Amino acid sequence: MTLPLRPDLAGLTPYGAPQLSVKARLNVNENPYAPPSVVVDAITTAVRKACVELNRYPDRDAVGLRTDLARYLAVESHADFLRADNVWAANGSNEVMLHLHQAFGGPGRKVLSFAPTYSMYPEYARDTLTEYVTLPRRDDFTLDVDAAAAAIAEIQPVMVLVASPNNPTGTALPLSEAAALCRAAAEVPGGCLVVVDEAYAEFRHRGVPSALSLMPEHWNLVVSRTMSKAFALAGGRLGYLAATPEVIDALQIVRLPYHLSEITQATARSALAHHRDLQAQVDEIRAERDDTVAWLRAQGFTVADTDANFALFGPFEDRKKVFEGLLERGVLIRVTGPEGWLRVSIGTAQEMALFRSALLEVVA
Ligand SMILES: *Cc1c(COP(=O)(O)O)cnc(C)c1O
Repeated sequence: MTLPLRPDLAGLTPYGAPQLSVKARLNVNENPYAPPSVVVDAITTAVRKACVELNRYPDRDAVGLRTDLARYLAVESHADFLRADNVWAANGSNEVMLHLHQAFGGPGRKVLSFAPTYSMYPEYARDTLTEYVTLPRRDDFTLDVDAAAAAIAEIQPVMVLVASPNNPTGTALPLSEAAALCRAAAEVPGGCLVVVDEAYAEFRHRGVPSALSLMPEHWNLVVSRTMSKAFALAGGRLGYLAATPEVIDALQIVRLPYHLSEITQATARSALAHHRDLQAQVDEIRAERDDTVAWLRAQGFTVADTDANFALFGPFEDRKKVFEGLLERGVLIRVTGPEGWLRVSIGTAQEMALFRSALLEVVA
């Protein structure tokens, strides 16, 4: 049988990293800690309550959840100017990003990003027939903002996508640079949004601000977040963004009706209510991250500065061989980033001890 598959999709394979059962799974930047039992209990109780009315469709506008998310951002990033109508939520920030592309991308339109960065960005563009253009980051993975501003003026993209902290490098975007991108984007005649993907925001070092603080001055800014990493809720699938109500209205047009199940909404709201109970885990991961970076540097490796829950390190002549040597010892990391580099997610103290001893054996 001949499948009428889109010609541009022919021969492609689906995105995804290996899901293997090994001692240390350090390849997809998950939170290594299970949700604390107080959170598990809260979720279970809320989901049980939601089940009583599962014959009904969920709240299509997820107003309760979006109100809670706005309140969380007010506490976490002092973004007390946000209301429910500034917030959009979907099944993971991947779906939030897809909604942005469905509403603002499309044939004849371009998005601009900065390589190396998150490998899903070209896929949202491809799936929505949007052209994906990249500028290279500098050798230390920071942005050349003047070059970026010039490219925005020339290319006239509909969106500029910057992950901060960036995946796979961990690089945070300074506020002054985010503001410069917003100013350059504001000059694009047809309009241009600057989307800062802050999937790893909660892991940033103290004193590193969120791009959210720029929003009252730059309303072409969109800040995306997720509960997959810091909230230990990758399995719950909840991502969200903050923007102007006009952006949110546009996203409502392209979302599927009832896209967020009542189970998802109840789960996310329960976890949000306990965000302070999750903070201890985040603090442990941040400390373990800094220890891991210091240890790798002490061994003579180069490590990109990281504000996330992972570290990009190298250089290796044959990174595939190092990856495989680690895997043989029960440590699964990720072959990603520029040639010669590897990325390790920060796990528990025990997992990182295993990573360290396995790495020393492999490079011996
Ligand atoms: C992990 C990650 C996400 C989160 O995706 P979800 O769909 O929310 O699980 C978003 N952006 C980047 C850059 C990531 O690395």
